[in-house]
Amino acid sequence: LDYTEGIGWHDGRIVPYQPLSLDPSAMIFHYGQSVFEGLKAYVTVNNEALLFRADRNFKRLNNSNARLCIPEIDEQYALEALKQLVSIDREWIPSAPGTSLYIRPFIIATEPNLGVHPSKNYQFIIIMSPSGSYYKEGINPVKIMVEEQFVRAVKGGTGEAKTGGNYASALKGQQIADKEGYSQTLWLDGKENKYVEEVGSMNIFFKINGTVITPALNGSILPGITRDSMIQVLKSKQIPVEERRISIDEVVEAAHQGTLEEVFGTGTAAVISPVGELKYLDEKIIINNGEIGEVSQMLYDTLTGIQNGKIEDTFGWTIRL
Ligand code: PMP
Repeated sequence: LDYTEGIGWHDGRIVPYQPLSLDPSAMIFHYGQSVFEGLKAYVTVNNEALLFRADRNFKRLNNSNARLCIPEIDEQYALEALKQLVSIDREWIPSAPGTSLYIRPFIIATEPNLGVHPSKNYQFIIIMSPSGSYYKEGINPVKIMVEEQFVRAVKGGTGEAKTGGNYASALKGQQIADKEGYSQTLWLDGKENKYVEEVGSMNIFFKINGTVITPALNGSILPGITRDSMIQVLKSKQIPVEERRISIDEVVEAAHQGTLEEVFGTGTAAVISPVGELKYLDEKIIINNGEIGEVSQMLYDTLTGIQNGKIEDTFGWTIRL
């Protein structure tokens, strides 16, 4: 789909996967005006194809558009176009347990202009690829490390938008974590360097003394769709859940007192990732003996069960093709 100032979005089309031809002065190459989404299509045990909460992805894309001065897309049109695209060939969606079709919608600024202003032209593209299970066997707890030197997002910045720049600023932390043998960075707030925000590609949850706590959305945390879904599942099971500010000191203190029962991340790719080890300053905190906890396992089973059709979707999240 193309956007031209004065005309709007036009010329929606489905074409074979191929390289793009862009002007070297296309604004995306210079000023980072881009937004994207990540979602999945699944095949159920009854061989039905479905999308999971894809309407929310296009809504979030529009929120990102608003922040990046990119014109709004028609969410309904985008959803219908995606359904058509996925329906071309059902074999694209792998059916082995844990596999899915990963879908990446994105918008880039294409006006050839080196002046700094919102682009007058854009391309909205959706690419897809079969993706394997995130974990080789079952779910394995991950190790995460609190980043102390760098920040990913600040109040008033673009943290809440899904835009390339946020991921570029997170690379350094990821590199440090990799070097120390940790799989992802746990980001703190960019002002006081004290409150927990999120992990590289997941939102984060802590179970302390029976209550599940996740950082409240504050403008710099990505509003994860899995995060929102899991809060709803927890509420439906009468498990106490709080969305509020939580400092890293509160987490460490709970660990010292023996009340930090579970830590897990949520995300489209990560599904539910139990955290087995958390590193902060010089301390390595082992959570639940490095094993998956009861609540993490229940959320994993519920989410994957709804996605593979083994559990009835009472939330209205699945979109059949
Ligand atoms: N935070 C960040 C920074 C992410 O990239 C992702 C993955 N999209 C998430 C959280 C989780 O969001 P979702 O559940 O919508 O995939």
